[in-house]
Amino acid sequence: MNPARWLERAALLWPKRPALFRGAEVVLDYAGFNARAGSLAAGLAASGIKPGDRVALYFANRTDYLVAMQAVWRIGAVVVPVNAKLHEKEAAYILGHSGAVLCFTDADHAGDLASLAPEARIIDIDGPAFAALFSDKPAPALHPTGQNDLVWLFYTSGTTGRPKGVMLTPANVQTMIMSYFADVDAAEAGDAKVYAAPMSHGAGLYQFIYLICGARHIVPASGGFDSDEILDLAGKLDNLCFFAAPTMVRRLVAAAKARGHRGEGIRTIVYGGGPMYLADIRDGMEQFGTRFAQIYGQGETPMTITALTRAAHVEALEAGWDDETHSRRLASVGVAQAGCEVAVLGPDEQHLPAGEIGEIAVRGPSVMEGYWNDPAATTVAIREGWLHTGDMGAMDEAGFLTLHDRSKDVIISGGTNIYPREVEEALLTHPAVAQASVVGRPDPEWGEVVVACVVLEHGATAEAAELDAHCLTQIARFKRPKDYVWLDDLPKNAYGKVLKKELRRIRTL
Ligand code: AMP
Repeated sequence: MNPARWLERAALLWPKRPALFRGAEVVLDYAGFNARAGSLAAGLAASGIKPGDRVALYFANRTDYLVAMQAVWRIGAVVVPVNAKLHEKEAAYILGHSGAVLCFTDADHAGDLASLAPEARIIDIDGPAFAALFSDKPAPALHPTGQNDLVWLFYTSGTTGRPKGVMLTPANVQTMIMSYFADVDAAEAGDAKVYAAPMSHGAGLYQFIYLICGARHIVPASGGFDSDEILDLAGKLDNLCFFAAPTMVRRLVAAAKARGHRGEGIRTIVYGGGPMYLADIRDGMEQFGTRFAQIYGQGETPMTITALTRAAHVEALEAGWDDETHSRRLASVGVAQAGCEVAVLGPDEQHLPAGEIGEIAVRGPSVMEGYWNDPAATTVAIREGWLHTGDMGAMDEAGFLTLHDRSKDVIISGGTNIYPREVEEALLTHPAVAQASVVGRPDPEWGEVVVACVVLEHGATAEAAELDAHCLTQIARFKRPKDYVWLDDLPKNAYGKVLKKELRRIRTL
């Protein structure tokens, strides 16, 4: 089924309902939203975009992000959402790897991208070429997209330093939606879904849930996450629902405390994407009450592994913080969602009993088709039908899963994954850097921050500021180290492999 069908359905059922908002202002109702997407779809088809073609979106949250996605799906093409915070060189890699024929971007990136990714047509969404794409011709009929066709190619950073393209299908998306309604929240027509986190990721995937019930889609005027702006929107729009990384929740709670705001106008905050500390969720519930639900997912099984329901939060609050069972559950990531099976596997792939720590694996219709043009990586990730997440955890007798560590070295800062290898490779291109190894350091605000352990070339000098400026020419701003540790050599084992564990000890000295 074509994912654009839900917009068409909403436009038929509720044409006059306000659909797209910029801040508290209505931009388009459902009929208008569908018509704008249809007009762009007609223009895209006329300009030669065919079913199966990849079209990249590389710009920050705005209402036209949703319009562009819907237009691309309508004609059977594939959306490649690129995190707007990535460096142009990183975006160019994704365009090249995915074979994108077209990329919508903004004026900030358009110039550089055009020279870095000559194969793709680059269109500035604020320029005349974008406006000219909207056609007067009738909207093309929905392309007959199949359940296992590619609709969303999601690039996730890999341990090898190069991002991999996760292939998502309508079947994956439908499973995510069904699981959301079953395990997370019963979304309703009166809801106002706020795109506070990047639309290229989980927040964008959740558009479907609110299209199905004909709710309001709110893009904050700032285009990003601003706690005061969200609290103001709650007062104006009511029934706000949004996905937020734990860092955002912490910031929002701090801002609410400062204003004496108790969560009025907020209906549901779904948190996930990185570890939430028990103290922080308790703090959040003391301020906002029972407005929370948690999901644990990853790009390869989008938003769908486990969930800690709103009811589980309510039970924990009612039981009191001294109740051990409920506290343990509140510190967990909840139970397997309805759309998938979750297992904890031992080193020989055997299923481990309750209480034992192993690698978390997922099976079912939420799991991706594989990695785009990377059968080797797909074979490593999906073995005997189970997606190996790289996360370590243990399940209790009742099925509540607690995450322990990650088998991968990924650093999660502000809910965004940063793979050390990417940062290490950027540092190593500086002539003064002989060796570099990157680790995460626990941080009360960001969850973790990037720390670089650097060994300089003999006789060379370089200050943190210089390496910082160098990183800015190579990788996204948010990935660069927040701190540097200067070493004479990196600790290594007998095989010469850098001992990250030892570095994690050093980074805090
Ligand atoms: P991504 O593929 O970018 O969505 O990142 C997925 C990774 O984020 C997972 O493999 C986990 O390591 C982490 N993650 C996602 N949700 C949670 C959660 N609720 N608690 C802790 N870590 C999480």
